[in-house]
Amino acid sequence: MKKIDHIGIAVKSLAKSGELYEKLLGVKSYKTEVVESENVATMFFGVGDNKIELLEATADNSAISKFIEKKGEGIHHIAFDVDDIEAEMLRLKNEGFILLSDSPKPGADNKLVCFVHPKSTGGVLIELCQEVR
Ligand code: ZN
Repeated sequence: MKKIDHIGIAVKSLAKSGELYEKLLGVKSYKTEVVESENVATMFFGVGDNKIELLEATADNSAISKFIEKKGEGIHHIAFDVDDIEAEMLRLKNEGFILLSDSPKPGADNKLVCFVHPKSTGGVLIELCQEVR
C-alpha cells in the first residue's frame, strides 16, 4: 500500500455536512459524485495529499444508512492507495483478511475499489483503491 488516499465519513446530509467541512477545511469540495452500485452520493475535499470523502445514503438499503442507524454519523472507512489492486487483494486474502468482494468494483473518483471487512481488521473498514488508468 502506498499511502492513505482518503478518509470516508458517513453523513446524513451532504448539503449540510458539505458546508461544515468547507468551513472546517477552508476549501471547497472539488467533486460530488453518485455511485449507483453502492447507493451513495459522495463529496470530495482535497487536504494536502489526502482527501476527505463524505458519504450520504441514496437508498434505505445502502451500507451508509445501516452504518448511521447503528453508529451515527462519523468516520466510516480509511482508504489506501494501491498500485495493483488485484495483487493487493490476493496478498490480503492469503494473509487471512476477509474481502467484501471477489473482484475490484468501480468506485467514486475514478477508482477501482475493494473493501476489507472490519471484523478482520480490528474494527476498521478498510478500502483499497487504485486509480483507473
Ligand atoms: Zn472511500
